[in-house]
Formats: sequence, structure tokens, C-alpha cells
Amino acid sequence: MEHDQHYSRTANIAATILRADEAQLLAWSNWMVDCTTLTTCNAATWLLPGAGRRMKAFHFIPGTNGFWCDIPDYNMRLRDLIGRAGDWIELGIALHALQDSYSHQDFVGGFSKHNSGFAYASWWRSVSPNFCHNDFVKLPDMYDAVWYDPRTELIVDNEKRFDAAAAYVRAVMKAPPRQTRVFPTVRYDDRKRKWEEEAGVQPFEDIHKDYWSKYGRKWQKAAVRQRTFILNSF
Ligand SMILES: [Zn+2]
Repeated sequence: MEHDQHYSRTANIAATILRADEAQLLAWSNWMVDCTTLTTCNAATWLLPGAGRRMKAFHFIPGTNGFWCDIPDYNMRLRDLIGRAGDWIELGIALHALQDSYSHQDFVGGFSKHNSGFAYASWWRSVSPNFCHNDFVKLPDMYDAVWYDPRTELIVDNEKRFDAAAAYVRAVMKAPPRQTRVFPTVRYDDRKRKWEEEAGVQPFEDIHKDYWSKYGRKWQKAAVRQRTFILNSF
């Protein structure tokens, strides 16, 4: 998932029951997971050691099968993680994994044949490393995308998956139903702003520098705690 879900929509849900500054801290912590080398990897770093472990601990928590991602209903590890969160920073990091488990279901964090989507369709896809959802580029993370998964032979409608993730976040937060409006006809950046405005929070870019100097160390420690907990759990 991208910024619109991890930051804007999370803040929007959280703000229905928290103060705007608490909702903002939780959403900031959530989106940070995609912003630091401690917790994510990009095209330049996926071949470096530890990339798979980072992806497993923060974006592709293995389900009950011990291997690929599945949604929290079936994922005890993920539910334990959410239950352990002691503050808004820890909960933000844990909720990132929860949301990603909807968009990343059926993918393995790291290198696996199971992730291979286009082995027969394109020579380039067949030689590109089967790392996470590499073969599908950004499709699984885009709110508006509807795409075909040749592994399951299903048409995936991301909006449905992402709305289900939002419903689960609401349940975890004990936030009242329907408080999150979806703005399907607006463009990506407008959608972000609308969710943020409705929540009364500032855009991530406006608060990030200040929050990093205030909460950065705490956030890093919380991320390391989550990594240790998840990697020790299988
Ligand atoms: Zn992620």
C-alpha cells in the first residue's frame, strides 16, 4: 500500500476516536515503515543481505503457513503483534503490517518461486528476481488497480481489499463504523488531502522533519522490537 492508505486514511480512521495529534503520530509512524532503510528496501537494496528479513518483519508477515502473507483473520502472528503494541508509535508500525497483509496476500517476503507471476508471459519477468511482488511491479499497492493474478487465476480488485483492511483497522482501533469516507473519483493526491483534512491532520511532508527529531529514536527502537518479535516467531 501507498501513502494514501498508510498515512492519510489511517489518520482519518484514528481521528474518529483519538485527538488529532495522536492520530497524526500514529499515521506518521505507520508511513515511516516505507521510508527508512531499517524497515524497507528498494530496487537498489533488495539484493543486499537482510532485505528478505526486513520485508518479512514489516510488510509480508508470514501467515499460519509460515511462508506467504495472509490476512489477520488467519494470521495469529500478526494478531499477536497488534495486541502487544504499547503506544501509538508501536501500533502505527504494527498496523502497517496489518494493512500490507491485505495488499500482499499470497506473496512471500523475500525471494521465492511462489512470487513468480510471469514466468511464461515475458522473458524479462521470468529473469527478474522473484522478490516479493516484483513481478507485478506496483499493482498490488495501488488503491485503484484491478489486476489479474495468474498464480491464483483471480481478478483482484484492490479497492475491495483495501476497504477490508480499513475495516480491520477500525475494528482494532474500536473506531465507529463508516467514519472513513472513500473518494474513489478523485486523484491520488486529492484523496490524500481529503482524508487528512477530514481528520484535521497536517500532510506528512509538513510534520516529518519535526516528528523525526522528536520521535525518531523511539520509532527506531519500536521497529527493532517488532523485527525481533516477528523473526523469532518462526
Ligand atoms: Zn509496506
